[in-house]
Amino acid sequence: MKINIARLRKEPGAREDFAFIWEERFDLGEASLTKPVQVQGYVVNTGGNILSLFMRISTEVALACSRCLDRVIVPLDLTVTDQYCHEEDRPKFFADEEEDAATVFFFKEDSLDLQQAIQENLLLGLPMRVLCTPDCPGICPSCGQNLKEGSCNCRKREIDPRLEVLTEWKKKMKS
Ligand SMILES: [Zn+2]
Ligand SMILES: [Zn+2]
Repeated sequence: MKINIARLRKEPGAREDFAFIWEERFDLGEASLTKPVQVQGYVVNTGGNILSLFMRISTEVALACSRCLDRVIVPLDLTVTDQYCHEEDRPKFFADEEEDAATVFFFKEDSLDLQQAIQENLLLGLPMRVLCTPDCPGICPSCGQNLKEGSCNCRKREIDPRLEVLTEWKKKMKS
């Protein structure tokens, strides 16, 4: 989605609102979108050759539970604020506000393409770890049984060999 900023660039204080629904898929690695991405916000000329972007991104993703790998639906509601400066104004900008230069994105066209900003913010907004339930018991490391669906027989066999020796020894002492 591109926002035309030809007019905005010339008028400090000018503002352009936008709202759209993105049906296309984004590459989010392990996560997959389960809803279209809703984007809403505005670009405002805040003076000093800077265009400020305020954007809210809402959608929903499916991720794997960190313990049992079951599908977990996670709503995402992200707020983005970025600053943009046109390439043409770069020399002027650097002379004036060198310190802030690192936080500004530069662009060449008469429009701002929001696709990359949306993609990056979706990736950054993904939770590192999700659980299907707060007390998900996970998967048995021996047989792979999903312990949420029922226990397996591994526990019984997993007796510490040292304890087994001790148990045998105790039996002998009693007899
Ligand atoms: Zn789980
Ligand atoms: Zn098991």
